Amino acid sequence: MQRRTLLGAAVAAGVIGPALVAERASAARTDAGVSVFAFPLSAVTLNAGPFLDNMNRTLAYLSFVDIDRLLYNFRVNVGIATSAQPVGGWESPMTELRGHSVGHLLTALAQAYANTRNTAYKTKGDNLVAALAACQAASPSRGYHTGYLSAYPENFFDRLESGQSVWAPYYTIHKIMAGLLDQYLLAGNSQALSVVTAMAGWVKTRTDPLSSSTMQNVVLRTEFGGMPEVLTNLYQVSSNPDHLTTAQRFDHAQILNPLASNQDQLSGFHANTQIPKIIGAIREYHATGTTRYRDIAANFWDIVIRHHTYVNGGNSNGEYFQTPDAIARQLSDTTCECCNTYNMLKLTRQLFFTNPARVDYVDYYENALFNQILGQQDPNSSHGFVTYYTPLRAGGIKTYTNDYNSFTCDHGTGMESNTKYADSIYFFAGETLYVNLFIASTLTWPARSITVTQATSFPTTNATRLTIGGSGHIALKLRIPAWVTGATVQVNGATQSVTATPGSYVTLDRTWASGDVVDVSFGAALTFPRTNDDATVGAVKYGGILYAGEYGNTDLGGTLPTLQTATVTSAGSLHFTGSASTGTASLIPFYKMHHQRYTVYWKMSSANTGSSYEAEAATLAGQAAVRSVSGASGGAVVGFIGNGTANTVRFTNVSSTRAGSHMVTIYYASGAARSVTFTVNGAAGPTVATPSTGGWSTIGSVTTNVNLNAGTNTIQLGNTTGWAPDVDRIVVGA
Ligand SMILES: [Zn+2]
Repeated sequence: MQRRTLLGAAVAAGVIGPALVAERASAARTDAGVSVFAFPLSAVTLNAGPFLDNMNRTLAYLSFVDIDRLLYNFRVNVGIATSAQPVGGWESPMTELRGHSVGHLLTALAQAYANTRNTAYKTKGDNLVAALAACQAASPSRGYHTGYLSAYPENFFDRLESGQSVWAPYYTIHKIMAGLLDQYLLAGNSQALSVVTAMAGWVKTRTDPLSSSTMQNVVLRTEFGGMPEVLTNLYQVSSNPDHLTTAQRFDHAQILNPLASNQDQLSGFHANTQIPKIIGAIREYHATGTTRYRDIAANFWDIVIRHHTYVNGGNSNGEYFQTPDAIARQLSDTTCECCNTYNMLKLTRQLFFTNPARVDYVDYYENALFNQILGQQDPNSSHGFVTYYTPLRAGGIKTYTNDYNSFTCDHGTGMESNTKYADSIYFFAGETLYVNLFIASTLTWPARSITVTQATSFPTTNATRLTIGGSGHIALKLRIPAWVTGATVQVNGATQSVTATPGSYVTLDRTWASGDVVDVSFGAALTFPRTNDDATVGAVKYGGILYAGEYGNTDLGGTLPTLQTATVTSAGSLHFTGSASTGTASLIPFYKMHHQRYTVYWKMSSANTGSSYEAEAATLAGQAAVRSVSGASGGAVVGFIGNGTANTVRFTNVSSTRAGSHMVTIYYASGAARSVTFTVNGAAGPTVATPSTGGWSTIGSVTTNVNLNAGTNTIQLGNTTGWAPDVDRIVVGA
């Protein structure tokens, strides 16, 4: 494998951006519908901080783990002698998911090598790939079809195709294929490309004879991981249309069709079975340009984030999607499977490539990364053991994996998460540089003699400093998170006159000289975001960081303590205290909460009844009119918002005693599913989807968080691209 071909393939897979496009191999395909690009992992180095600490613990595990023990089942499966001791957990010789961890390990080793250039990880990956190639070559001798590579017999697929019970055979195949493709793309292992290509051929052999009905109604009923994603990625690398055709055989109509029409029918489905299907859809959009795939992915993201996501960025209870907006009544020890969040971050990243104007994608990425993924790993574990779930019941506690006797899905995705933090800090398009996350790191911009070093102790301080090395033109786009109460931007000590709107980018477009320094500092506030289903239940955030109450050995038994929100005050760095029904509560960042019981959610001392504001007839413009309703929401009027830019309904004199995020509930009537966008003090705010109420005389409500100034605010609601719901009134939380 020539280096030039490797880089070309990586460009096509969306792993490396067009700065290297000149080296693209003729066989590779360029992603469609993408307007921003990732740097290769080798371009970004993590510097001292919590993310590097996490990564180093996982790297220690990657160095430690014995690949011969993990290969035991693969070798036994094809009659290759092994003296290794089998391992336990989900990799034990009797577990039907055996083999999946080898895929995760391949990916983690490839990422570790790409990010650190430490050849020990490459050597280990090469050895693993060579051993797997030998197992694949021996498959026909056991009566398996050519290209078959697994740690269990091929008759698992006979069982799958005939509707018999079997755990998730294609899920495991996907992990191995994805790991091999990553070994090729990130570590330059050409043998890995041969092995994964042969596996893709086997998938085609296996699925081609099956009718569409058998695929849809039998095979796809069982969890199959990211089969459409990895096959599409292989198509982008190889241009072999067979891989795309095979990928599309895994398009699961039962899940994708409702999403194409923006219907939330996720309740009752296993969450992490579905998220990879949607990652497949966005990759199929990038491979084909078919916008239906893009819409499926964008709609899914909006539905999951707005209606199925907890305050820490996680989703699912007992691994399943619950009814929309069921949050406060779905708190347990089995909330927020970490794989789900790992996969939501993958999806979010692809959607950001597709539409970088959606800064809320990045706000979510930061929220889930800092408030779930970073805290998934046990800091006391030198091997970076991780949690499976993130319990959110009052009195929950995190529990962790181990070296050789767990090998759960989350042990695997944990290896991946903790070796790729460098992949989402910076992005680029031409000479535009996006600074999305505040993580200490150094970017060495490929093909340009420019480095950007980010020094930050965020979230200990809400500030970051970028120092430019080398010189040249950069349109530097600094993310201003939605949670800020204000931001100051300085270049070489001089304050810049820029508008730092929360949830946007500030752009500094200039030719930079070596040694130029950019300082950004953010204002932050305490907020108490409430759950969608119970305005009396909420959590505590300071800026973008989620704080949880320390409860030591006290099992609260699921009973939420009541927190007197007005008493919550700073008690030092990354520490707050407040009066709670259990006594004085000590709150620390949730990502630092380990080895003790905690509560993330609280009963809040004051319900989020807040202040109610009626749509005012005098403020209605354009086609807007006012019509009376029965007052089902408690209001007297409905603002009737037409279809067009001039049609808005306005709420003036919305008062707030503090700047920052406030919970705003809209009461609306809408016979059909619609959406409405906030404009707050003239700046764009969130867009909320309003599901059908079933009739125009029925009032529904939907809640979102909106940043307000201290003092008087003007909130305007409208929809420039289609009909909006009729809005009756809004309630603004304190
Ligand atoms: Zn999992």
